[in-house]
Amino acid sequence: MSILKTVDPVVYDLTVKELHRQCDHLEMIASENFTYPAVMEAMGSVFTNKYAEGYPAKRYYGGCEFADQVEQLAIDRVCKLFGCTYANVQPNSGSQANQGVYQALLNPFDKILGMDLSHGGHLTHGAKVSSSGKTYSSFFYGVELDGRINYDKVREIAHIVKPKMIICGASAYPREIDFAKFREIADEVGAYLFADIAHIAGLVAAGEHPSPFPHCHIVTSTTHKTLRGPRGGIILTNDEEIAKKVNSAIFPGIQGGPLVHVIAAKAVGFAENLKPEWTTYAKQVRANAKVLADVLIKRGYDIVSGGTDNHLVLVSFLNKEFSGKEADLALGHAGITVNKNTVPGETRSPFVTSGVRIGSPALTARGMKEKEFEIIANKIADVLDNINDEALHVKIKDEMKVLASNFIIYDRPTY
Ligand code: PLP
Repeated sequence: MSILKTVDPVVYDLTVKELHRQCDHLEMIASENFTYPAVMEAMGSVFTNKYAEGYPAKRYYGGCEFADQVEQLAIDRVCKLFGCTYANVQPNSGSQANQGVYQALLNPFDKILGMDLSHGGHLTHGAKVSSSGKTYSSFFYGVELDGRINYDKVREIAHIVKPKMIICGASAYPREIDFAKFREIADEVGAYLFADIAHIAGLVAAGEHPSPFPHCHIVTSTTHKTLRGPRGGIILTNDEEIAKKVNSAIFPGIQGGPLVHVIAAKAVGFAENLKPEWTTYAKQVRANAKVLADVLIKRGYDIVSGGTDNHLVLVSFLNKEFSGKEADLALGHAGITVNKNTVPGETRSPFVTSGVRIGSPALTARGMKEKEFEIIANKIADVLDNINDEALHVKIKDEMKVLASNFIIYDRPTY
């Protein structure tokens, strides 16, 4: 940090401000987490200087002997973590991992069937504004008004659409995903089954959510959400032919030189995920999310699907005067960072919404447990009960800052 301070005090100042923001607020965005200092050190390493187009032992540049070793280490560790045979650790993001899957297994205009964005799916699962929806013919399944996937309905749609690929996995689905059932449906219509486990990967790695293997032909994830690694993506499979196609799709298909420093950081993250302590963390993530749901239900809030099986809770304000956007803003003023989200039966626009998505991974990484989540859930309810009471929001913000200060996540430099 001190070199940055000397060379570029403006960027240094912004970085320190962001550090304080992350430390002082309660970070409850379900897709965010606090990565490990060792991961950040690897990300800031000399590997950032290295061009390594290609794959270990098959590069287009010289001087790749250490890049080869670090990439192979990341591959071996992630395969061990998820119990699969082949991994591509080069995607720069979850979106690029998904793009790589499509590029590997589909042709333009092929039919894909994914979860509707407004029902909890991701943009890259065929939304019309995304290249996945522009390049392929996308069709969607959703959730029922009870907030759950109805697998009979998915089957019905799949039989009508006859997609080449079915995509399962979501950005805002609080319940377990039944990969075996999805595979039955995929087999009935002769489709590839692709699971995007970006949100739940950390739980899967710990056995806290059923594994997509052996059911799915291909699996992607981000590495920075519940996995707590660096920002990035991965693609996993047990099928050698698919693995070969994926490698060609990523490089030279859609990427050039891989981010070797990020691959090194992924290896560090996977090593953390392989430790016995990881299971303790993942169990706590789920336990904390459950407390959040239970308290909010007790306080009279409508929780989509009536609870959670994973790391996130979706709160619905369909029966309230205020929107998700207003709730998001009010909670932000109270030092609690969440995001607005559409809910089943949505009546407002996607920019306004009738819900918020709240996650437990980041605060669990700080060491918070059920006791703290009970306090926080009650404070969330206090803010929502008094959505226009700005003085109360400021008071709660101060209280949350004190609570946060008892759970130090990173050292803070003094200016
Ligand atoms: N897939 C799912 C299910 C996600 O929730 C996200 C991000 O939120 C992504 C893919 C995309 O990841 P990235 O933001 O790294 O492109």
